[in-house]
Amino acid sequence: MSGTLSLLEVNASDMLTPKVGISRCLLGAEVRYDGTGAKASMPHSKLAGLFNYADVCPEVAIGMSVPREPIRVIRDLDVVRVVGAVEGTQDYTPALSQQAKEFIDDNRDLSGFIFMHNSPSCGTRNVKVYPTDGGPAVRNGQGVFAATVAQLWPALPCEDGGRLFEDALRENFVTRVFAFAEWQKVAPDLSAKAFIAFHSRYKYLLMAHSTPAYKEAGRLLSDLRGSDLHSDLEEIGATYIEILMRGLQNIATRGGHANVLAHIQGYLKKHLSRTARQELAGLIDAYRKGEQPLLAPVALLKHHFREHPNEYVEMQAYLEPRR
Ligand code: SF4
Repeated sequence: MSGTLSLLEVNASDMLTPKVGISRCLLGAEVRYDGTGAKASMPHSKLAGLFNYADVCPEVAIGMSVPREPIRVIRDLDVVRVVGAVEGTQDYTPALSQQAKEFIDDNRDLSGFIFMHNSPSCGTRNVKVYPTDGGPAVRNGQGVFAATVAQLWPALPCEDGGRLFEDALRENFVTRVFAFAEWQKVAPDLSAKAFIAFHSRYKYLLMAHSTPAYKEAGRLLSDLRGSDLHSDLEEIGATYIEILMRGLQNIATRGGHANVLAHIQGYLKKHLSRTARQELAGLIDAYRKGEQPLLAPVALLKHHFREHPNEYVEMQAYLEPRR
């Protein structure tokens, strides 16, 4: 589980619907080199209703036909290019890179991107790279379009559609997209106060996913004190969101969750009897050791916070990741 707990009820009508870029073939459009679509290559039903999609087929957008000659990634010494797989004469790299720049410029309100896996244009990882000296292909490349998006917009949450079949990776991606979308709401008119409020909401979620990123973000925010210059805030904000997104990309471990649960438990200290505190601490420890599911300590926390509401805890993204 990546930290998307649900201690609190979320009103669906109040929820953001982030705009997410998507490789067009993943929506079923028959735009692949062989005239097929790839709707079955991502778990649509598991993501239903969460996002609005902005679709693009980079190869069609640069003027390639359907059907068409397939393309592939080649490496010539340190130079990586995308060329026709049969003839190998035409270099599509500059056009696909340019297409990525234009798509991003036209869609600065994106909060994430779902790419078609293994594609020499759209794949984000493990794309086959063919050495020009004739050796075997190595699965360590990226598609040119996806690589350019990642390079130009490193904070943007990106994922291969095929990886979203895995519950932990899908949950992780959804968490990152909603966090990024929430940041996009505050970033344009950022004040020091709004910045600190945003980080306060995300600190426990970040702590669960990555202690180093949590510490890095805390150090960065300490530079913020006393600065309300918009230019400073913008610069610190750009660094901050990259740290947050990088940190959230880690799948939260049992240790990470248990650490956060123990912190949250601290807010109940004054309200619980010694016996109730011991019971809660014991359950968190049992979860940490793998003897209980995460839901066990969470359910008990939920029960206690119903009895003793706490505004600071209630606003935590760790407990209410989507709003
Ligand atoms: S993987 Fe990308 S370039 Fe290939 S068909 Fe799908 S959207 Fe088009």
